[in-house]
Amino acid sequence: MSESRVRYVCLKCRREFDKQQLDVMMAVRCPYCGFRAIAKTRGDIVKIVKAV
Ligand SMILES: [Zn+2]
Repeated sequence: MSESRVRYVCLKCRREFDKQQLDVMMAVRCPYCGFRAIAKTRGDIVKIVKAV
């Protein structure tokens, strides 16, 4: 449980998921709806991650 607490949230369906779920898919996209624009949340910092 020493992983950094980085979470991702889909900009479309607003669901949250972990980095591990992205690693499994080996792509930057929402594991639920497949949308390719997600935000990285760490504490109160939200960074938009947009796959091209
Ligand atoms: Zn989504």
